[in-house]
Amino acid sequence: MIVLEADWTWTGARFESGVRVAVDGEGKIAAVGALAPPATTRLAGRALLPGFVNAHSHAFQRGLRGQGERFPAGAGSFWTWREAMYRLVESLGVERLGELTRLAFREMLAAGITSVGEFHYVHHGRDGADWALDEALLAAARESGIRLTLLQVYYRTGGIGLPITGAQKRFDARSPAEYWRRMDALAKRLDPARESLGAAPHSIRALGLDDLVQVHREARARGLVVHMHVEETQKEIDDCRAAYNGLTPLELLADRLELDAAFTAVHATHSAPDQLRTCLDAGANLCLCPLTEANLGDGIPVLARVPPGALALGTDSNARISMVEEMRWAEYGQRLAREERGALVDGAGEVARRLLGAATSGGARSLGVNAGAIEPGRWADLVELDLGAHELAGWTRETLLESFVFGAGERSIAGTWVGGKQLFAR
Ligand SMILES: [Zn+2]
Repeated sequence: MIVLEADWTWTGARFESGVRVAVDGEGKIAAVGALAPPATTRLAGRALLPGFVNAHSHAFQRGLRGQGERFPAGAGSFWTWREAMYRLVESLGVERLGELTRLAFREMLAAGITSVGEFHYVHHGRDGADWALDEALLAAARESGIRLTLLQVYYRTGGIGLPITGAQKRFDARSPAEYWRRMDALAKRLDPARESLGAAPHSIRALGLDDLVQVHREARARGLVVHMHVEETQKEIDDCRAAYNGLTPLELLADRLELDAAFTAVHATHSAPDQLRTCLDAGANLCLCPLTEANLGDGIPVLARVPPGALALGTDSNARISMVEEMRWAEYGQRLAREERGALVDGAGEVARRLLGAATSGGARSLGVNAGAIEPGRWADLVELDLGAHELAGWTRETLLESFVFGAGERSIAGTWVGGKQLFAR
């Protein structure tokens, strides 16, 4: 048993002093509060937050950083970026995927990210070795120590009703039966103290409706979370309407799947507000990836009345890995689009608290991971803020969270703990 005590600890609604966090031998929080046992580790000059949960990542895309940011042929788009990403996929072997994944996951730990939902779709080796890159990904995650939800992607069509071609062959799930055999094999190998599994039908353009219904139904029967890219581009909606009697992807999902809290729609950039609301009212989660959506020029979603707790955040393409930037850009995108301040507020009119919730408990709900809050029974996944950091100077107990969310970055992150072990220290 270790007992941590920082100067200030985030207890869900505010920072409190005199709070001790007892962590059991398994790495779970045993008790929180003014505990009798003295601190075994005194974190002086620090404030503790729950570890950040990154609900949507493609780790290998870390390999594109700094590339594709020049436009000699004129403006690019999601689709021109995708061509560059496919070129990276063509060059990706087991070793390179492992390197890029380790690089991305270590950078995540240094950014206070303790859990990642890895939306993993490059399955097969360059030499055709079946599912070889799944193994490389698992090994890299274990080396980094980050908590992993492997969102194993089901990908089978190169556009609605079209065969997969080129780089996409590396993604091929082949059939529901083969996919579930693979899921069974993965499930047996996971360490429940650090790893979990989710199903990820890639998007409405990457699999047929029958496969989608099958994969979703089987995932729910197994108690797995389901993540899916939804309406990131207008083209996806137009193609879907053309193929499916005028229905949008969200209308199709509402019609064909039993949406619930285990479902997460990623992006919803071009979703009609009423259709998004129907999906969220059914209990589903929405994962925004504001830095990637900005980098790709996707657009800004209309976020009217997103229920509390339904919002999660992801670093997606990993062009920049910073949950604090994801938090503030979720809000800033809305401010720029609406020309008003205080868009993503909670019931008490607080923005930073709502954004922190999206980056912690919202992500944990989306991934089905027992983390995201400093509470007994949850994994002891924690972030230490350095109260002496220059960029936080002037903070008070009342403004510390806002100072961090709106004014600071990774330089204020002094340490990251996963399962009661400090994996990063500045
Ligand atoms: Zn994505």
